[in-house]
Amino acid sequence: MSLPYPLAATEYERFRRLVWSRATPVVRSARLGFAGDELEIQARWFGGEFGRTFTGTEGERVEVVQFGHWNRGAGPDFTESALLVDGELRRGAVEVDLDARNWERHGHGDNPEFNGVVLHVFADRPASSRVFTRTESHRHVAQVLLPQYSGLQGPPDFLPEAYPGRCLAPLARMHDREIESLLLAAAQYRMRRKAERLRVMAGAISREQALFQAVAEALGFRHNKTAMAILAQRCPVGELLRMDPVRREARLFGAAGFLDPSLAEMARMADTRAYLRRLWDRWWTMRGEVEPDPRRAIRWRADGTRPLNHPQRRLGALAGLLDRWEELRSLWEKPGDRLEQHVNNWSKTLAHPYWSRHCTLRSPALPQPCRLIGKDRLRDLLGNVLFPGAIGVSPDRWSEYARLGGVDSNQKLKRAALRLFGSDQQRRKLFTSYYHQQQGLLQIYEDFCLEDASDCRDCPFPEQLLQWRDSARAKPAARLEAAGADGNFL
Ligand code: SF4
Repeated sequence: MSLPYPLAATEYERFRRLVWSRATPVVRSARLGFAGDELEIQARWFGGEFGRTFTGTEGERVEVVQFGHWNRGAGPDFTESALLVDGELRRGAVEVDLDARNWERHGHGDNPEFNGVVLHVFADRPASSRVFTRTESHRHVAQVLLPQYSGLQGPPDFLPEAYPGRCLAPLARMHDREIESLLLAAAQYRMRRKAERLRVMAGAISREQALFQAVAEALGFRHNKTAMAILAQRCPVGELLRMDPVRREARLFGAAGFLDPSLAEMARMADTRAYLRRLWDRWWTMRGEVEPDPRRAIRWRADGTRPLNHPQRRLGALAGLLDRWEELRSLWEKPGDRLEQHVNNWSKTLAHPYWSRHCTLRSPALPQPCRLIGKDRLRDLLGNVLFPGAIGVSPDRWSEYARLGGVDSNQKLKRAALRLFGSDQQRRKLFTSYYHQQQGLLQIYEDFCLEDASDCRDCPFPEQLLQWRDSARAKPAARLEAAGADGNFL
């Protein structure tokens, strides 16, 4: 039996507390931010071919507790790694180069994305001079010269992004419905936190600005979530709504740093030239007051995103939503029945004279107009903004949310599914089809996998799964009583 919202959230919260109460405390150093063609050597490093214990270039003992994950985007080669350097736990990223000098040659020493690197591994270094590895924030990074490196033997066929975890075995012994109840409870817990975050933001700023920032974040997912949040903070919705649509759009694109003066001259397409001209005519009148110092410019990421998801197009979608703000606000304030269907139908009527046909400010027009907000962004808007708002007011809306389909799998979700379900494709599909299941999986990944720095060895989650199984098998009345029938947490 599934408990209604938010009772299962309470069940998960207790389980989570119980699991961590059984964990061995570790002293952690400050958690660092997470930030190849050298592909062969990286694959060997990750595959453990060089072992786990090394002597660093300063004579320190470097032990790899966990290798982390392959980073396929920009930034260091491996993220979420954990090391013991002379016994001190360091968590962060690892960069693997063929030559120690590649750190500076590739500009990593000036790139803030590499500030989270805790280990620089290389296969070679100059014989006559010492090379140090320093981050943009002037932090010294431990170095390891690979001792056993003996030449390239060709890349491996399979480059895993993560390893299956130790909880794989106990999960495999659990019944589908017991795992489903765990995911549902974790998803309720996550939903309760989202609803609470929105409520706190609304209290701290204003309901309208909280909604605007949440919508901008949902459109910025995944790489530009923070960039969109900063933009929403620098362009308060109250001010934007007092402007005419073109001025509003100029303010957004200018504050985002997308209105380079040279763009209009360089634009080859007449429609782009005309669009930029309209924006520039407004932007120059407010530029002096609004444009941030270059050091405070918003950093956007366009790598690894499909053309239709380019941050400029997402910003165009935000401008399109502002043109229909009253309707969006009413969907949030007074969500009617069948919210998903209603929002889907409404989204089909959203259009923008430029952004329905363009991916970026440099790209030619698309042969056909495309929807301003695609399927996955719409689901994130529903799952992260509209449903948390609706469920925060009426908990019984949970059952409608639980039917919301999942988004196309992202890297984090893939890692989580691989760690918990291994190569069991059937279970991976079964437990990632719905949005709430995906959210539950991500919650467990964040609560346990990202908190673990022992490569699963000290993670208390696998042992405590028995407790969950037993409670999931208990009579419904006992579970309701244990969770607290009032369930009033918001
Ligand atoms: S860290 Fe814990 S929850 Fe994550 S895969 Fe390992 S055993 Fe499972």
